[in-house]
Amino acid sequence: MMLVRGSEPVPKHGKLPPMTELHPALQSAYDTVLSRNGGEAEFHQAVHEVLESLNPVVRRHPQYADRAILERICEPERQIIFRVPWSDDRGRIHINRAFRVEFNSALGPYKGGLRFHPSVYLGIIKFLGFEQTFKNALTGLPIGGGKGGSDFDPKGRSDGEVMRFCQSLMTELYRHIGEYTDVPAGDIGVGGREIGYLFGQYKRITNRYESGVLTGKGIGWGGSLVRTEATGYGLVYFLQQMLGTKKASLDGRRVVVSGSGNVAVHAIEKAQELGATVLACSDSAGYVVDHKGIDLALLREIKVAKRGRIAEYAARRGADAEYVPGGSIWNVPCEVALPCATQNELTEADAAALIQSGVIAVAEGANMPCTPDAIRAFQSAGVLYAPGKAANAGGVATSALEMQQNAGRDSWSFDYTDKRLGEIMVAVHERCAAAAADYGQPGNYAMGANISGFVHVADAMMAQGLI
Ligand code: GLU
Repeated sequence: MMLVRGSEPVPKHGKLPPMTELHPALQSAYDTVLSRNGGEAEFHQAVHEVLESLNPVVRRHPQYADRAILERICEPERQIIFRVPWSDDRGRIHINRAFRVEFNSALGPYKGGLRFHPSVYLGIIKFLGFEQTFKNALTGLPIGGGKGGSDFDPKGRSDGEVMRFCQSLMTELYRHIGEYTDVPAGDIGVGGREIGYLFGQYKRITNRYESGVLTGKGIGWGGSLVRTEATGYGLVYFLQQMLGTKKASLDGRRVVVSGSGNVAVHAIEKAQELGATVLACSDSAGYVVDHKGIDLALLREIKVAKRGRIAEYAARRGADAEYVPGGSIWNVPCEVALPCATQNELTEADAAALIQSGVIAVAEGANMPCTPDAIRAFQSAGVLYAPGKAANAGGVATSALEMQQNAGRDSWSFDYTDKRLGEIMVAVHERCAAAAADYGQPGNYAMGANISGFVHVADAMMAQGLI
C-alpha cells in the first residue's frame, strides 16, 4: 500500500500481515478503523498490532467484546486540526498544519508529546496517540493518552523563527489544553527550547502560571530533573530487566543505537555506563561507525549543542570512525539493537541482517520503529524484543513525575527522581511479563504490553459508563 499525500510519499511502512483466527469483535473493530481512517497507514498498523494481541483476552473475557469497547478505544475522543501562520526571518509567510489528538482520558488528563516534522499528518498523530494511551497505562500513573504536532520542519530554522512558530501554534492550542485537561510535552523536533516558547506564550495568553500544563520544562522554571534523560535511561533500565530474565547483562556487549536525538544520546550514555560499547548511531542523512565506541562528548557537541549533522562526527574523529551516507545502520553487527530514530526504520531485511550478526535483544526507544514483519522475524528467531510502548515509557512516566512535582509545588533531587524512574521501568517490565505469561506466551513483551495496557484502560472505561 503506497500512500500519497499531495505529491509527497509518506515514509515507508511495514506491510500488514493478515490476522489469523481473529475474534469477530476484533475484526469488526479493525474494519471500522480501516473504513473510518482511510489512507492512515501508520494508524492502521498500530491498531492492527494491538488488536492482534487481544485475541486470547476477548476469548477468555467476552465482556471486552460487549458495549463496543474495542471500537471506542480505537476512536479518539477528540481531534483538533488547525492552521499555524508564521513569518520567517525574511518576512515571508508560511502556513503549517497542526494537530492535537486527544485519544483517551479514562486514566487521567490526555498526555503525550508534540512532534514537529515534515512527515506529520493526521495518521501519524493518531498512531502516536493510540500507542501513547497504552504506554501511559503501562506506567501505572494517572495519565490518559494524546499526541500532537505539526508538519513544520525546524531543520535550518533560526531561534526566532522557531519561537514565532511556537507562539502561533500556542495561540490556538492554549484553548484545548490545561493541567487537568491535556498536557503536551516534546517528541521529535520538540525539545527544551520549543517547550520554553510554548510555555511562555501559554502563560501570556492565559495570565496563569500553570506549571503542569506542559512537561519537559527547564529545570529553573518547573521542569523535573531526569526528564531529559528519562526516555533513554528508562529504555536501558527496561533492557536490563529483559536481559536479566536470561541471566545476561549489558557489560561488554556491542550495541547499535539508531538516531542521535535526545533518546539516542541518553540511551548511549546509560549503556556505556553499564559497560557496553556503542558502535554506531545515525541521523536522517546517514550513520557513523566508531570502532572504539561512540565519543559521547563529541556527539553531544555536534548534535545537541550545534544541531549539526552526524557526518561531522566522523570528520572530527579521524581514522577510528567512518561515515556511511544513506544505507542501513542495522548492517553493523551487534548483540543489542536500540532503534531510537523513528517509525518503521527497521524493516524485515534489517531484522534478518541483525539476526545473522547474532543480535540477542532489540528494545525500541522510538515509537513503532520495527515493522510488523521485522517483529515477527525477531520473535521467531528467539531474539528478546521490547516494544516502544513499554521500553520507551520512561519519558512520559517522568513527565508524570514532573506533573506531580508541579502539583505539589515541589522539586525532587536527581537521584530520587532517577530511582523513581528505575522502579517504574521495573514495574512496566513486570506488567508486560506477567500478562504475557498469563496468556501462555512468556517472554512475548509485545503481547504482554498490549494486553496489560488494554485491560487497564478498558476496565476504567467500563467503570465510567458509556464514554
Ligand atoms: N513523546 C514522548 C513519548 O512518546 C513523551 C511524551 C510526554 O512526555 O508526554 O512518550
